[in-house]
Amino acid sequence: MAGRSEVLIIGGGIIGVTLAHELARRGEEVTLLEKRFIGSGSTFRCGTGIRQQFNDEANVQLMKRSVELWKKYSEEYGFSFQQTGYLFLLYDDDEVEEFKRNIAIQNRFGVPTRLITPEEAREIVPLLDISEVVAASWNPTDGKADPFHSTAAFAAHAREMGAELYERTEVKDIIVENGEIKGVKTSRGVFKAGIVVNATNAWAKLINAMAGVPVRIPIEPYKHQAVITQPIKPGSVNPMVISFKYGHAYLTQTAHGGIVGGVGYEEGPTYDLSPSYAFMKEVSYYFTKIIPALRELLILRTWAGYYAKTPDSNAAIGRIEELDEFYIAAGFSGHGFMMAPAVAEMVADLITKGKTKLPAWWFDPYRFERGELRTTAIQMG
Ligand SMILES: Cc1cc2nc3c(=O)[nH]c(=O)nc-3n(C[C@H](O)[C@H](O)[C@H](O)COP(=O)(O)OP(=O)(O)OC[C@H]3O[C@@H](n4cnc5c(N)ncnc54)[C@H](O)[C@@H]3O)c2cc1C
Repeated sequence: MAGRSEVLIIGGGIIGVTLAHELARRGEEVTLLEKRFIGSGSTFRCGTGIRQQFNDEANVQLMKRSVELWKKYSEEYGFSFQQTGYLFLLYDDDEVEEFKRNIAIQNRFGVPTRLITPEEAREIVPLLDISEVVAASWNPTDGKADPFHSTAAFAAHAREMGAELYERTEVKDIIVENGEIKGVKTSRGVFKAGIVVNATNAWAKLINAMAGVPVRIPIEPYKHQAVITQPIKPGSVNPMVISFKYGHAYLTQTAHGGIVGGVGYEEGPTYDLSPSYAFMKEVSYYFTKIIPALRELLILRTWAGYYAKTPDSNAAIGRIEELDEFYIAAGFSGHGFMMAPAVAEMVADLITKGKTKLPAWWFDPYRFERGELRTTAIQMG
């Protein structure tokens, strides 16, 4: 029933918060419930990266819109969003051919990615070791944003427009009568709701079970770790640098000067977030293969968070038809931060209009049940 208000969002990560912001902007009554504090899930643990370099049309389209929105809101709200580019280092002909295909898709949608030479890559990041690099895929309009300031800004503006955001409020159960959602039971009492949105990412299956979602939506939590180093000269590593050959590594420089990033070292499914020495060994080895000078730096801090993964690394976004009304927007793997503003627009369209111009079909939560997996989305780490 499109057009009904009283939306209750479960989960105060970037997805829930940008959705609350977008619905409030459209004049909807919206409440968000977060069990710990806003951003405390994967969002404040992310690697800051925002890219349009994907390998399928839907993700490229979605990310093109997301970058427009990152630009608009960073200018309006004053948080840091920098279009410093993504640089994928390529080491053999097979990788080059694969990226040529990706670049063709991106160019079709107006994303200006191009193949460049190793020497051009080193002009962008002079510290790179290009001795084994044969080409690079470069899009200067990709970038990075500050997860703390951006999430806080979306939350503050959502509140200003009338959204109610509750922290320390854990959803314990969902009240459903004859297929109709009535409200949710929480650690702070019952909240009424007409429409519920599950934006809990790594915890999505638990919320689905509470609502009695009758369709199989496989989203599992995997531990991914990241590091930040001592600061170095500003401007040393402006873009996000990626090497699939060396550990699926990604790294970039933060506004404070440190190098932030991670590798493909993954554990799970698990809710454990303890740091591991094996990860530290891998990150040190792979980072210094990409930029040998990083050998001189100390790692200041390491942390872990969840990639909430589906079998094709694409999120599950959409309405669960059997319930009146329940939506899911979860399972973002290593790319949910970057997508949030466009996902918020897409889900708000579905809730308020029942349709959207954005490619929601790609993220259809029923695809797993039908056995129709998508092309596996390119994933960092
Ligand atoms: C090391 C690392 C690096 C990453 N790098 C990038 C990157 O560079 N770019 C990028 O785009 N993405 C990156 N990601 C992925 C990104 O962090 C996530 O995809 C994104 O933050 C997901 O946002 P979300 O709002 O869906 O989930 P979350 O931020 O996890 O929010 C979900 C929230 O739901 C709350 N919750 C759960 N259960 C309940 C309940 N019962 N009641 C109330 N609240 C509940 C949780 O407390 C949590 O705050 C990275 C992730 C990691 C771990």
